[in-house]
Amino acid sequence: MGTPPFLLDPPYEEIRAAVREFAQRELAPRAAAYDESGEFPWENVRKLAEHGYLGMMIPEAYGGGGMDTLAHAICLEEVARACAATAVVMDVHNSLVGELINRWASEDMKARWLPVLARGDRLGAFCLTEPDAGSDAAALKTTAVRDGDHYVLNGRKTFISNGGVAEIYVVFAVTDPAAGSRGISAFLVEKGTPGLSFGKPFKKMGIRASSTTDVILEQVRVPASHLIGREGQGYKIALATLDNGRVGIGAQAVGIAQAALDRAVAYASQRRQFGRPIGSFQGIQFKLADMATQIEAARLLVYRAAVLYDESVRTGRRASKEIAMAKLFASEVAMQVTTEAVQIHGGYGYLQDFEVERLMRDAKITQIYEGTSEVQRMVIARALLAEAGQAVEAAV
Ligand SMILES: Cc1cc2nc3c(=O)[nH]c(=O)nc-3n(C[C@H](O)[C@H](O)[C@H](O)COP(=O)(O)OP(=O)(O)OC[C@H]3O[C@@H](n4cnc5c(N)ncnc54)[C@H](O)[C@@H]3O)c2cc1C
Repeated sequence: MGTPPFLLDPPYEEIRAAVREFAQRELAPRAAAYDESGEFPWENVRKLAEHGYLGMMIPEAYGGGGMDTLAHAICLEEVARACAATAVVMDVHNSLVGELINRWASEDMKARWLPVLARGDRLGAFCLTEPDAGSDAAALKTTAVRDGDHYVLNGRKTFISNGGVAEIYVVFAVTDPAAGSRGISAFLVEKGTPGLSFGKPFKKMGIRASSTTDVILEQVRVPASHLIGREGQGYKIALATLDNGRVGIGAQAVGIAQAALDRAVAYASQRRQFGRPIGSFQGIQFKLADMATQIEAARLLVYRAAVLYDESVRTGRRASKEIAMAKLFASEVAMQVTTEAVQIHGGYGYLQDFEVERLMRDAKITQIYEGTSEVQRMVIARALLAEAGQAVEAAV
């Protein structure tokens, strides 16, 4: 696979080589069985933890790998190329929880939770979506009411990745109902806190081995010291965190698409019709060429977005538009490329044995979670209009 030499210095290539070897050896052989059973991939999670991939962006001072978002994107891409369900467990833990706490929590919270997250033996989950607040996440209704030195949380979150299996939940709740999106705050809630419970894992089209559940909060008392950032800062924290998460989902999409292309190229070389390998027909060659070109373009957008995310943390200038472009483009490419890979396999592509049908099912979610493709277009268009001096509503 060609990598852009102007973007990737040798250390990144070494990281890629190591994670590719690990993911192909440890994760890829189990991907089909996990998809079939829908069982949570604990074995994969343990391996990721052992190799440091669940703490890779946490600073070394807290026991993590101290790596940047580009290194994380490269690793997620290779993990997704082997097992997309495992990649979402990793993205949520690293981007939506580890990065959030590292960037926004108090020093005391960081000292307590980052080493735990870095070890990877206790997973994190990010609880924003509610039954009536999906794309319009600011419409969430879960409440957090101050009671002495505690907050009391009530509400229902839905579609929560790592739900039930995670030990550390970041929960977004309304602390000031009159203040709209500026009245939302973020809290850390530990599994085992009385009143915190989980729905049954949803049965999904793809990434079937990942756990997705409702998270139910009934009179959940959390210490006031578990408030992340300041009261009212929660929505800002959610959006900034999703910037990092969306780079990860873009990388996941690239990895899924690459896995489909790998299989399509192999199949086109081996399958014979009309007395020749189907790869010798121009109709198939053009498909392969377009798939490879789309993937390469998506990869470059994702890598640029990763670099821009880290720059945005340093400078305070958000890169949401460029990140949304990367997530939008990569997820659309994943869907197109996996669909073409099934087509190149003909009838066999429709069977589970050749794995491209799994990749097509896995690709679909990348157009939906962490903001649908429509939401990414809203973010991009609003930024364009804002740049042109037009008055627009706040970006999603
Ligand atoms: C497997 C899975 C894992 C997930 N993991 C998490 C998680 O860990 N944490 C979490 O908080 N959430 C999670 N989600 C939730 C996910 O982010 C939401 O499903 C997503 O944001 C869309 O929300 P919705 O499903 O309510 O769809 P809706 O918002 O109801 O959207 C329905 C359709 O309308 C479109 N639409 C909505 N508004 C507009 C508009 N203004 N203009 C044009 N089109 C519009 C949408 O694009 C979509 O096509 C997960 C979801 C799934 C399926």
